[in-house]
Amino acid sequence: MRVHTLGDGEPALVVVVGQHGDESCGERAMERLLADDDLQLTGAVTFVVANEHAAELERRFVDEDLNRAYPGDHEASSHEAGLASDLLDAVGDRVVLDLHSTVSTEEPFALYQRLTPRSRQLLERTGLDRAVDIRTEPGGLTNHVEGVAVECGRKGTEAAVDNAERIVRNVLAAYGVVADEAAVGDPTVFEVTERVDGAGYDFLGENFVVVPAGEAFARRGEEEFIADEPFYPVLMSTDGYDESVGFAAQLRGPLSAVDDDDE
Ligand SMILES: [Zn+2]
Repeated sequence: MRVHTLGDGEPALVVVVGQHGDESCGERAMERLLADDDLQLTGAVTFVVANEHAAELERRFVDEDLNRAYPGDHEASSHEAGLASDLLDAVGDRVVLDLHSTVSTEEPFALYQRLTPRSRQLLERTGLDRAVDIRTEPGGLTNHVEGVAVECGRKGTEAAVDNAERIVRNVLAAYGVVADEAAVGDPTVFEVTERVDGAGYDFLGENFVVVPAGEAFARRGEEEFIADEPFYPVLMSTDGYDESVGFAAQLRGPLSAVDDDDE
């Protein structure tokens, strides 16, 4: 794990990049910002490069998925269990923007696991138009801190790096870390209801496009997954996960119409 701080003062915001070692878009966007001599800093931000060891290996993880390993444990033998604990210490009580990339879709979108006033504010300040409530998945960083994850685009593409840079710049401007205009939005919320488990399936639909009841959305040879009720696929793909096709979600409407969690 590596920490960079940009600007002076006490950063209120932490940008986490590279939780998954094979998703380099966040780190590359961070490097562009750190190298930008024209950046007009009016505040401070901390960047955390999370899983450097996995990045060296160009693998998602060393022993286990870091973003399923929180809160972590220093007594455990897994690389990611110790790292998860270190990362939570490094973040402390600050708001987190956590950058990822995906094989499932090109268009960036936000994800959250807790809806608090601070995570809502960050969702608005990404400037993105879609947000996924994925609190059904255990062990994620955004389950343990107040923050938002963003899928910046397709894994390994320059477009994902460009999107990551644009999103970070927008967030930094919106938090007053850099002097610039920021887009603040009211994203449409999709709530994950279940994970669709199964290995080796071809995904037949399109993410964020409704699958009508009775329609096949995944196939393996003669076997098909048929929608019992209409749903919106999220992070569904043919080869994104080893044991899962992805997630089924329902449309909740605009974020402004969704209440904060009960604390
Ligand atoms: Zn990821």
